[in-house]
Amino acid sequence: MSGRVYLVGAGPGDPGLLTARALELIAQADTILYDRLIPSQALDGARDDAELLYVGKEGGGEAVPQEQTQALLMARAGEGKQVVRLKGGDPFVFGRGGEEALALREAGIPYEVVPGVTAGVAAAAYAGIPVTHRGVASAVALITGHEDPEKPETAVDWNALAAFPGTLVFYMGIGQLPHIAESLIAAGRPASEPATVVERGTLPAQRTVSATLATIAREAGAAGVKPPSITVVGAVAELAVELAWRAPGPLSGRTVAVTRARAQASGLALRLGELGASVVEAPTIRIEPLPGDPLDPSPYDLLCLTSPNGVEYLFERLRAGGRDARALAHTRVAAIGPGTARALGEHGIVADVVPERFVAEALVEALTDVPVQRALVARAKEAREVLPDALRARGAEVDVLALYETVPEPLSARALAAARAADYITFTSSSTVRFFLQAAEGKSALSPSTRIVSIGPVTSETLREHGIESHVEAESHDIEGVLEALVADVVSNPHVADTPARTS
Ligand code: SAH
Repeated sequence: MSGRVYLVGAGPGDPGLLTARALELIAQADTILYDRLIPSQALDGARDDAELLYVGKEGGGEAVPQEQTQALLMARAGEGKQVVRLKGGDPFVFGRGGEEALALREAGIPYEVVPGVTAGVAAAAYAGIPVTHRGVASAVALITGHEDPEKPETAVDWNALAAFPGTLVFYMGIGQLPHIAESLIAAGRPASEPATVVERGTLPAQRTVSATLATIAREAGAAGVKPPSITVVGAVAELAVELAWRAPGPLSGRTVAVTRARAQASGLALRLGELGASVVEAPTIRIEPLPGDPLDPSPYDLLCLTSPNGVEYLFERLRAGGRDARALAHTRVAAIGPGTARALGEHGIVADVVPERFVAEALVEALTDVPVQRALVARAKEAREVLPDALRARGAEVDVLALYETVPEPLSARALAAARAADYITFTSSSTVRFFLQAAEGKSALSPSTRIVSIGPVTSETLREHGIESHVEAESHDIEGVLEALVADVVSNPHVADTPARTS
């Protein structure tokens, strides 16, 4: 089999802007070399055994040298692998894709180019700016600004740019914005011309600052705009004010770290993203099913489930014995909360009992008037004994079935650093607390400026045992409760992050 390299654009950040071809190639790849500015979920569809190599620049630090990246591409393709070189936006727009294609061509390695949605056009569109507009702008120029003020700037012909009859879109160079604006004005572009900066375009935390060429650098500076950002100069830039269609979410501008298992995190991450937060995934636990015999639930008149995972693994045990939901026809089913009840619903079971608060004590209370002779509590290996003890105290015979266990997931230095820099860190179970602190080697891993969010009293107590007091505790002990608590906290603590000026 011959190796092949795919130079693939991953779009500007919104995972919905990955092309169908990109997703297909990511799912097939043996090796993926990726940059920093790719959508955070872009690699979710990669094969479990795919080799994922990060070759981007780490927050202002040195990038993996281009020659090294190219050497890696060739080496893997030489081994007969299908290699995806995944880049932010479009691979041929300021992405050095052309250089890589030339090197591949020279080495005789077959390659394919998959265009991507480029940031200059997409971030503008997400801010309400059409880069061309009938009667207003009939041409658009994509320009790279200099990130490094030390570099000579001979590459930019300011006179030609100032005279360009259309929209100017600057990539990079947010630090050079004062210089860019001044140079354009000095070369004859009107100081009153509209200019809009779009920060983190298409991402949940997108912000825009609109001003004029004369004032844009000051305004963007005052709003604390950071990379990645593009700057649009031209009459169309003004349309951002009128055509902006993305309402900022209540969590926009906030970074939230999620410590729960990767498999479960996506739901929470998705909801956080919809509310405008930037999500840092720092999974500290992993759910592992425990081996066991097929389950025959017929001896039980009550079945208690304490998590959606429990529901999934329970049905696997039923299936292992050739059974399905009908095997529960004569058993009352209790769920600890709505998430668990929903998981049951997906298997055609409507829970008979769901308490109003989602802790074991509340479930015990909700079961007070339910007659029980023989109960099965299906749950995680390590869990509190509140429920089995209470049922036994009522004279019931109780079997506890451990379906899965939570094991620590190693936390990368990168994830840890990102979690430390987050505005909020969420703990959604006691094990996330324990394993996070274990991975991070103690509570000093939590930055004093990070607000700690706990899903409920049990998790808060575990934090307390480690000398940590949560700032926010969810009233409803589920994901929606965590989100509500977060939004309420942001509303009452607007100083947590910069409140953006003149944004949309
Ligand atoms: N190949 C990429 C560009 C790479 S250069 C593309 O086609 O989009 C990196 C620059 O792209 C950043 O400095 C920034 O100016 C711009 N950029 C990338 N993602 C962005 C985003 N989500 N919002 C705004 N600008 C972005």
